[in-house]
Amino acid sequence: MRAMGAQGETRELARALLAHVAHQRLLGVAEVPRATPCAVVTPPSNVTPPSRAASTIAPDARETLETVREDLGDCQRCKLAPGRRTLVFGVGDPRSRLVFVGEGPGADEDAKGEPFVGRAGQLLTEIITKGMQLRREDVYICNVVKCRPPGNRNPEPDEVAACEPFLVRQLGAIGPEVIVALGKFAAQTLLRSKTPITQMRGQWFDYHGIKLMPTFHPAYLLRNPGDKRLVWADIQKVMGALGLPVAGK
Ligand code: SF4
Repeated sequence: MRAMGAQGETRELARALLAHVAHQRLLGVAEVPRATPCAVVTPPSNVTPPSRAASTIAPDARETLETVREDLGDCQRCKLAPGRRTLVFGVGDPRSRLVFVGEGPGADEDAKGEPFVGRAGQLLTEIITKGMQLRREDVYICNVVKCRPPGNRNPEPDEVAACEPFLVRQLGAIGPEVIVALGKFAAQTLLRSKTPITQMRGQWFDYHGIKLMPTFHPAYLLRNPGDKRLVWADIQKVMGALGLPVAGK
């Protein structure tokens, strides 16, 4: 994906902030009170304010996806570990401007060790390639939890609590300009919100200085193809934020 140009400094600040937040969470710090305004990004007027306390910036340029993966190791930090075949870390451009975050691996992903490779994944790939006119490898794709929940159930709070710090560290290492939260679970988890996805989708939120767009999960679209137009509308907003030309449908 092409370089971001003038927003590079902002991106680096956001990346450093996420790395710091992840480190604090791993230390058991849930929230850091904001003593002074945290001007990571000046959001446009339609960006919803952060739904949780902002954190102070402590630049840490040493974080990379490799260091995050090394720290995960053969992770046994939650009860999903015994049932997994593969720890599904994430795939794509480690410096992408755009990150898609889903809920967790399914059976196909667990078998292949790559997120979004089943039928829903094929639909996500079509959104990226045919809709956005990008290559799948131009973006980064990952999940809130990295091991398959049994029976594809939703990840439970203790599992999210164990795994999310590594997602935040991944986001900190990548430093994207935009995050697309795929589906209710990912959106509600990242934003600490109980708002239905039907109300969140299509609106911009702020995730530690990074613009976040919730939209429907591709698996939902397989069951409800009539709502593809809504996802396309959301994706067009993402393309606009990234300065990408809207050419396909
Ligand atoms: S879901 Fe995350 S925290 Fe739980 S075992 Fe897998 S990698 Fe570790």
